[in-house]
Amino acid sequence: MIVCHELMRLRETITQWKQAGLRIGFVPTMGNLHAGHLSLIEQAQRRADKVVSSVFVNPLQFGEGEDFERYPRSLTTDADQLRQQGCDLLFAPDVALMYPELSEPVRVMVPRSLTGCLEGAVRPGHFDGVTTVVAKLFNMVQPDVAVFGQKDYQQWRVLSAMVTELNWPIEMVKAPIVRAEDGLALSSRNQYLTPMQRQIAPHLVRVLQAVVSDLSAGKRDFRGLEREASARLLAAGFDQVDYVSIVDAQQLTPACCADRDLVVLAVARLGTTRLLDNIEWSAV
Ligand code: AMP
Repeated sequence: MIVCHELMRLRETITQWKQAGLRIGFVPTMGNLHAGHLSLIEQAQRRADKVVSSVFVNPLQFGEGEDFERYPRSLTTDADQLRQQGCDLLFAPDVALMYPELSEPVRVMVPRSLTGCLEGAVRPGHFDGVTTVVAKLFNMVQPDVAVFGQKDYQQWRVLSAMVTELNWPIEMVKAPIVRAEDGLALSSRNQYLTPMQRQIAPHLVRVLQAVVSDLSAGKRDFRGLEREASARLLAAGFDQVDYVSIVDAQQLTPACCADRDLVVLAVARLGTTRLLDNIEWSAV
């Protein structure tokens, strides 16, 4: 596996691959890799001849007082895991390379209708950081296909809208959520949890499953289902519920009828750790 910290080496390699007619797959990450990330590499390998992954903890997508400083960084282990998975190139730029003029970086923004709700309402500006870094990475890597996790559902939706609106010829793939045996969605942030919190954490997906069962059973009081789910999370021991929302899968607007694809998203906190999860639902 080639490991690049510089743009020149990355560009030379990509150019060679493109000249050889190879299709390039890309998986951006913030590192501290787990089986969820590696499943994205596998998905990319199925759709491309060469797979590039990036590891970059992006300061622009963290808000004031969030965990940018303490976000787990483990580049050596990440590189080993990617090598074992058969990834072809790891791009690990530093902040100065990604943001040469960090005091006022150029930003790419998707309209607020998609970025101002859900995660964007709790973390203002978060998605401007995400779209900006992914736009820059797309320009650097020039992938034919990019793979993102359904775990960050809104992120996938926002980035897909960006690619469509900016006419990038990139196939956007949404990969299924990889879970621990007890159902908890794998996340780099799970390691912040105490043993006691780790026991409570899988209730998040169970509560989402209960909402989905209610939808399948024909319940249509969407706001009532959201309220009930929030109450169940608090009763299970979560310290705070940021939201439980049943939304239109495309527009991310609050669900009002069941003849469209929906997604049930929840974010709840154990101590200061925010856990995200979601399940898609459709009537057919
Ligand atoms: P992150 O390093 O957290 O920025 O995540 C990088 C990519 O991995 C994103 O597309 C995430 O949605 C995806 N990802 C994170 N956790 C999981 C998981 N448990 N299953 C599948 N994909 C995941």
